[in-house]
Parts: sequence; C-alpha cells; structure tokens
Amino acid sequence: MSDTNAPLVDGFGRTIRYLRVSVTDRCDLRCRYCMAEHMTFLPREKIATLEELAVITERFIARGVRKVRLSGGEPLVRRDVMDLTRRLGRHVGGALDELTMTTNGTRLAQHAGALVDAGMRRVNVSLDSLDADRFRFITRHGDLSQVLGGIAAAKAAGLAVKINMVALKGLNEDEIAGMLDWCVGEGHDLTLIETMPLGAIDEDRTDRFLPLTVVKERLEATHRLERDGQTTGGPARYWRVDGSATKLGLISPLTANFCDGCNRVRLTTEGRLYTCLGHDDHRDLKSALREGGVPALDAAIADALATKPRRHDFRIGADEAPAVARHMSVTGG
Ligand code: SAM
Ligand code: SF4
Repeated sequence: MSDTNAPLVDGFGRTIRYLRVSVTDRCDLRCRYCMAEHMTFLPREKIATLEELAVITERFIARGVRKVRLSGGEPLVRRDVMDLTRRLGRHVGGALDELTMTTNGTRLAQHAGALVDAGMRRVNVSLDSLDADRFRFITRHGDLSQVLGGIAAAKAAGLAVKINMVALKGLNEDEIAGMLDWCVGEGHDLTLIETMPLGAIDEDRTDRFLPLTVVKERLEATHRLERDGQTTGGPARYWRVDGSATKLGLISPLTANFCDGCNRVRLTTEGRLYTCLGHDDHRDLKSALREGGVPALDAAIADALATKPRRHDFRIGADEAPAVARHMSVTGG
C-alpha cells in the first residue's frame, strides 16, 4: 500500500502515463465488428458513479498519468459525461497534458462547443465509410449525415479531428484511399485499425480481417507516405501523407506487436482496471475505493500493475475463439 504520489510503473519497468476511461458500455450504434445486434448491457447498479470515475481518474493523474481519453460504448450517450469532462478538464495544462474522447460522432454536433469549453482540443471520430448505405450497413443504424454534421461541428468549434476507420475486407477496403483523400482535404488525421478478436459478434471476424500491411502497400501506389517519427507510447505508427498536414496512423495489433512501449491502462464503466486490452485479468477499483478509500485504491492499482502482461496475444482465424470475451465497447477502444 502507498499513500504517495509515486509514478506508476509496471513489472516490466513501463511507466503508465495514459488512462482510457470507458464511461458507458452502451451505444446508439451496433457496428458489426464491435458488437452483436442484440448486445446486452450492464445493469445500471453495476455502473460506477460519475464521482467514483472522477476520483479514480484523478488518483491516476496524481500518480503521473498525463493523458486521459474518454471512450465507451458511446461516451456521449452517458447523461453526466459532460460533468465528468468538465471536472477532468480542469487538470488540462496542469497535471494533465491532454483530455480527449473517442466518439461515434452521432451527438457531437450538440456537444462540440462544450467539449472545447471543458478543455478538450482533439477528438477521435469513428467513420468506417463515406457511403450512406454502407455506413448504415456497418453500423446497423447509423445516419452518415448526422456523423458528418458532428465532425463538421467539431472542426468549427476548433477541435482537431482524427478519423478512426476499421479496415474491413470486402466491406470498406475499396474506400480507404478515398477516405485518406477526404481527410487530407478536410485537414483531419486518419487512423486505420485492424479488426481485433474482442467479444462475440454475429459474424466470423476472419472473413473481415484485412491486414494493414496489405493496405499500406496499396496506399503507397497512389500516395506519398513519409514515416513520421512521432511515438506516443501508443500502438499506432504514423506517416505524413503527400506532404500535407494529415497524418496516417496504422494500428496493427495482429500484424505488428507494439506492447514493449505500452504506457496505458483502461478503466471500465464498472470501475474495473484492465492493464491489457488482450487479457481478462483485472482489479475492481470501484469496490476497493468503496471499501477502503484511497489507500485501498492505491493498493489495488499497485497489485494490477505488478501483473500487467508483457504483451497481448491476438490471433485471428476461423478456429480461434475471441482473445477475450469482453467487447471493445466494455473496455473502451
Ligand atoms: N463508440 C465510440 C466509437 O465508435 O468511436 C467509442 C468506442 S469504440 C469501442 C472505439 C474504437 O474501437 C472505434 O474506433 C471502433 O471502430 C473500434 N473498435 C471497436 N471494436 C473493435 C474491434 N473488434 N477491433 C478493432 N477496433 C474496434
Ligand atoms: Fe458503438 Fe463504437 Fe462499438 Fe460502433 S464501435 S458499436 S459506435 S461502441
């Protein structure tokens, strides 16, 4: 147990600087690669309160976390998410370098101004297609114009926008070059993501898996990609596109392992701490806080960090079960 503000270092000497907080597992969309159509969500009594999420997150900030990302599920469907955003935003420019959010964009038009007022400077918006019918198919419900409106509102409010696109074989692979051109035109960054084996869905992920090694080769035929040295301690590797301001990020958990420099941990809406996206091991920080206050919280965090796995072990194949039963929407992508 420790009551100091000592930095958080795991058993492999990696210092934790980045916390992702899944504020809800609920979502207004049902992206095919993320969740089943009839996904069941956590009962409300299991959800950590805003105050608990804030106290736990602020404890991480006091212990050296410099970047917090709010995610979900869809973070903007949680009613009190803006209160949490405002509270955490007060640390930006002080103990916190950055407060960001990953959102599907459906409610961004209503909230963009308030996010900026709260201290947010950047958002990641998921957008897997620029074709309205295809977008509806992939998300099962989504209205492309609503999301594009949200992205435009974010840009107008002064938020830098990074588009997240999951590369899906036979579904949006023919749109990747076009999406990159659109991002260059709009001044957005683009991150491409390999589909990861997280949680059961209605289809076989193997059918949709598209290695980013292939995607990059294809893009290089039409675009000048210059390696950008930026390392965020995160999983993405970056390239500058055609000399523009746009950066292309590739997140390739299946074809390139990035765990050696991992500086992140994840807090779920239940108040559980997961130290690796690819493992089920976790500690219940909400219960620790309820039962023993900050000293118990510190002890549970220390215990979790001591056992943070060296690496994930994602594999994708017809005969492979999901790496973990937990969906990305629970852990917070
Ligand atoms: N609802 C928000 C959104 O879609 O941006 C935030 C949560 S979502 C789980 C975060 C990111 O994870 C999204 O960019 C989504 O495309 C990605 N994602 C979800 N399931 C995934 C999977 N199985 N493999 C790879 N990426 C996934
Ligand atoms: Fe919802 Fe995001 Fe998952 Fe799509 S990827 S279903 S928007 S949580």
